[in-house]
Amino acid sequence: MNQIIDVAIVGAGVSGLYSAWRLKEDAAQRGNPLTVTVFEGSERVGGRLLSVKPPFVNDTYVELGGMRFTEAHRLMVDLAKALGLASGELPDANPDNIAYLRGQRLKMSDLTDPDRIPYVIDESLRNRESLSNLVAIAAVRSLGPAFKEVLGIDLTLETLKSVTAEDWRAVGERGSFEGKPLYETPLRYILERTLGHGAVQLLQDSLGYDCILWTWSAADGFPFNLTDIGSAVRHMHLVEGFSAFPRRLQEKALALGVDVQLSTRVKSVEDTLLSDGTTGIAFTTVGLDGVETPHLARKLILAMPRRAIELLDRKGPLFDSRGAGFKSLLESVSPVPLFKIALCYENCWWEKVVGGGSNGKSVTDLPMRQVYYWKVNPDDQQGVVLMYDGGLTKSYWEQLDNVEGPKQQVKLAGRKEGVELWADYAAPSRLIFEAHRQLLELHGLPESEVPPPYAAACRSWARDPYGGGAHWWNIGVRSYEVAEKILQPIEGCPIFICGEAYSHEQGWVEGALNTSEAMLQRHFGLPGIRDTNLL
Ligand SMILES: Cc1cc2nc3c(=O)[nH]c(=O)nc-3n(C[C@H](O)[C@H](O)[C@H](O)COP(=O)(O)OP(=O)(O)OC[C@H]3O[C@@H](n4cnc5c(N)ncnc54)[C@H](O)[C@@H]3O)c2cc1C
Repeated sequence: MNQIIDVAIVGAGVSGLYSAWRLKEDAAQRGNPLTVTVFEGSERVGGRLLSVKPPFVNDTYVELGGMRFTEAHRLMVDLAKALGLASGELPDANPDNIAYLRGQRLKMSDLTDPDRIPYVIDESLRNRESLSNLVAIAAVRSLGPAFKEVLGIDLTLETLKSVTAEDWRAVGERGSFEGKPLYETPLRYILERTLGHGAVQLLQDSLGYDCILWTWSAADGFPFNLTDIGSAVRHMHLVEGFSAFPRRLQEKALALGVDVQLSTRVKSVEDTLLSDGTTGIAFTTVGLDGVETPHLARKLILAMPRRAIELLDRKGPLFDSRGAGFKSLLESVSPVPLFKIALCYENCWWEKVVGGGSNGKSVTDLPMRQVYYWKVNPDDQQGVVLMYDGGLTKSYWEQLDNVEGPKQQVKLAGRKEGVELWADYAAPSRLIFEAHRQLLELHGLPESEVPPPYAAACRSWARDPYGGGAHWWNIGVRSYEVAEKILQPIEGCPIFICGEAYSHEQGWVEGALNTSEAMLQRHFGLPGIRDTNLL
């Protein structure tokens, strides 16, 4: 208890490690011997980034957590370069892949053919251009008056393309639809009203995500769906796996003297008067042996999502009467239960259906929703597919995973390190065979033609301490106000919060980075990273 840590950071995900690195780098520039310790509850760094090495497949890492970023993610793109991490394109849309919807096996390119899609669609939308721009059409049909009133812009499909994040913020905060603020208007309601149910169903089924059209208001949901998702968005990935990004941040932080303590969960957080008369933080950690250790810090950063904060002991300033307003800030976002399963096969049998050198995704309204043909070394016989379910409440796969009991044990002599990590996430057998069955149904092949996978790994992100893989702002929330307030939720109390959950790039690493930057600049007096020589 004698040593007071200058800054204690809870969580070694991207936001925690990035904050640690930036704080220590800035202190080094100023000749300030600042002490920074990161406490991580699990045995590894990276949080929701988890790259695993599939057994007997060379030169690839499958992403059971985050997998890609876009060119619009400027901080992510520039940091990857600055940290020396090679990136490559990760194709998403491929016209020859399958859209297996309502029992019909179409090609992805058929989704814009009004005569092929098995959905009842309004006549005004039954043409290729409209069918490829459904969200944009809904925005133009509903938000014209709001854009005119707030920004003086005549909203058309053309002018919509140059609407900036700042424009969206202004319209989201001050614009209305049918006399109600946009932040109180469900996105899904506007879509149903302007496109009709058939088109909304097509959109949801063919995107492969259930959550991104449902959860939030028009103010937050429109910008996400227009700029982050869709066939026009170019995606990149890190060649060494996305986990290399937090690992590289950790290396940078360690080199500057940051202490990173793994398998050390923070249990409770309280404020206290330090010996020099200033307010500090007293907190307790628990190790794997269950032993509790008390610590003192001048400042404490919670670099973790909503559920992880809710799991802290319900005492101290966040949870007693001083935190009355904090509860509504904390509950202003909903975690969404993302689930991924990777299956390894002896050969790429799906190429019989989708063609050689397969890439990108196929989609379906079966519970598996999205299937990515994972890029592997062409010299390898084996192939990997990654299934991705972005559910609304409980995932079909999570329920199967929960009831299954002991996992299938993959007894393999791996050719490269990291195989143990794959075995840590080995999927249970019933889940594997159900995923295999759905995969065959999607491709229209009989079980007799395709032997089952030789290995499978899965990860449910609804489990504690995450609560969900990504977070969306709730309807009725003024998200920009909350995002600012939650950085230091209780005035005068040196507890700070950052991370993807309360960002404006939710579901992305970029959100974790940008909230960390905002916190460091506003509350720790750091210059913006672009004003340093780090990029
Ligand atoms: C399936 C899936 C797909 C995704 N796809 C993408 C994508 O393609 N591109 C993209 O950019 N992003 C994607 N994301 C989102 C991205 O992974 C996150 O935005 C980012 O990793 C979040 O970082 P963070 O620092 O905010 O939080 P986290 O990564 O959640 O880190 C929080 C850390 O805190 C630790 N912790 C929690 N409680 C405690 C405690 N009490 N004591 C100590 N430690 C604690 C956790 O163990 C964890 O390590 C995806 C996420 C998932 C799950």
